[in-house]
Amino acid sequence: MKFISRTRPNFCLPDYLAYCSVAAAVRHIRRAPHFAVGLVISQSADIDTYYRAAHAVLKPGDGRRNSDVRTLPIIFKDAQPQTSHSNAIEALENDKVIILFEREDSIPPDIRVALDLVVRIGIPTPEQARGVMRWVYRTEISGLQAKELLAHDWERLRHVVRPGRPISRVLSTLTNHNTTVASGLSESDGSELFLQNMAGYGEARDWGLELATDIHDLKAGLIEWNDVDKGLLLSGPPGTGKTIYADALARTCGVPVVHGSASQWQARGHLGDFLKAMRASFAEAKKLAPAILFIDELDSFGDRNDESNNQSYDTKAINGLLECLDGSQDRDGVVVVAACNFPDRIDGAILRSGRLDRHIRIELPNAEAREAILRIHLRGELALEDITEFALASVGATGADIARLIRDARRLARRKKRSMLQQDLRAVMPKSEVIPRENLYANAVHEIGHAIAGVALGLELRHVEISPVIRLTSDVQGLGGACFASRPWERRTRQHYLDMIAVYVAGSVAEDIFLGSHDDGWAIGKASDLQRATRLAIDMEFVLGLGEHLFAHSSDINRGMAEFRDVDQSTMLRADRILREQVARAHEIIERHREASVKLHGELLEHSGLSGERVLAVVEEAMK
Ligand code: ADP
Repeated sequence: MKFISRTRPNFCLPDYLAYCSVAAAVRHIRRAPHFAVGLVISQSADIDTYYRAAHAVLKPGDGRRNSDVRTLPIIFKDAQPQTSHSNAIEALENDKVIILFEREDSIPPDIRVALDLVVRIGIPTPEQARGVMRWVYRTEISGLQAKELLAHDWERLRHVVRPGRPISRVLSTLTNHNTTVASGLSESDGSELFLQNMAGYGEARDWGLELATDIHDLKAGLIEWNDVDKGLLLSGPPGTGKTIYADALARTCGVPVVHGSASQWQARGHLGDFLKAMRASFAEAKKLAPAILFIDELDSFGDRNDESNNQSYDTKAINGLLECLDGSQDRDGVVVVAACNFPDRIDGAILRSGRLDRHIRIELPNAEAREAILRIHLRGELALEDITEFALASVGATGADIARLIRDARRLARRKKRSMLQQDLRAVMPKSEVIPRENLYANAVHEIGHAIAGVALGLELRHVEISPVIRLTSDVQGLGGACFASRPWERRTRQHYLDMIAVYVAGSVAEDIFLGSHDDGWAIGKASDLQRATRLAIDMEFVLGLGEHLFAHSSDINRGMAEFRDVDQSTMLRADRILREQVARAHEIIERHREASVKLHGELLEHSGLSGERVLAVVEEAMK
């Protein structure tokens, strides 16, 4: 908050709250002379407030001073994709740019590659509200009062929270006007959820249920603290429910949870305050032990080897965290669950044995999980109706997207002064079209190609699916996928990388075999099969010391294809050879499993999704 005036014109509590979130999101690069950041605003209703906040972050001071640095925030409106796209391209000409998006999947691929960072802005935390009240309004409020404030509509907060007005009066005025839960800030926070009845968590659910048994046994004196898993790192796209996982886990284990995050701990800016706040969270969890300490945004701690601006701050912060994790002050009884979007950006030492040595990636929910998540958020509404149609139409959506869709449908019904009907859900679902059978068959061939290659190479397939519909509102979307269990203990040898490349290319190889050719889909976009395989092949040669030559450059496995310009021609040729060899290998694997492939194409077309067990059974049966 030190960069913004307490009396910035037209700024009220919501603007300062939004400012905190935006400032935290760009913390690492705000001093860089050039940057382009994408912010995904989870409550689109308040996007204008975030726009003002982004303006304040880009133009500190009183907001009127004109410096020679060209800066610009803009809003990318889903309703006007064309205009927004050209505005964004124009904005990217500036030195410092913040683009606000309503949804992550509305970021066009050409804009995404131009952004240095994409951050999802979550709901303001009670800690942020306390910080703003302290700094701007010079009023100390409790965590409970902060939560109560945050449950009110931002428009109302603007009028009611005023300098000099005691918090008790603020809260009673708000309550008397009966404005709670209008903004969706505290709606459906999952406060009744246990892991047993949640979906979309894959291995993390099994891990949590095991932990619940262990904690039960620990409390009963049957096992010792040393027998309990003490740390978990959850990674995955924003909105896949990592934060609510921590709460549901604690509820399932019957223990309290303490929440912390880098931005919350650094609310006051100084390193000393940061370390003090972090140690206080560990101490609080220890006092409540057995307890869970949830650390959000672990990737914003950075990496001590990263040569960015704040290296010295990051190094000290990470060292402080390592001390806390190692329990120099004894952390018996405290299970640490951390969440991040980019596990590759985490300092390796944090993930070492005895610290956060278990890593589980949460994938986008499949159709079955989406249906279960829809049911959770419907909270009993439409209980007797079939909602498969909506589970299919929401392909590519995160849990958070599903929660928002249901909120939108509920709002529609409220406006019409009746309870929710299927037609309300239909009205808010992303517009989609049924994929023609011929294309669907090609998708099935492609995904079964990945699945078969993975199974043949000993990977554990969780499920494989294809989407029968395509959304018309977004460029970036999955039309299916084969999902494999993560293998945290696997040694990442040359063979490991070759296998991964073979699995990546196997989709299009299968298209060649069964359809006679493949299309360009395997090479478009950073997340495409061929680009991923290419990055791995180049990394083997250029970065990981697993190629023909023994030199290693610093590793940044998040770089885009454009950055491969640094890579010399001979490395490129060696990488190309690796790719060709793995294409031939995938070819041979799929030919060997031709019979199983054909059977599985039919089953996948019929059911849209198959379990890993089913695929394995068909493969084994055909080999007999
Ligand atoms: P993350 O921490 O991964 O960014 P959150 O835990 O903050 O995601 O999820 C945001 C919201 O999305 C939750 O409050 C919840 O309403 C919804 N949500 C996400 N995943 C799930 C899930 N698996 N089941 C039910 N709701 C979910």
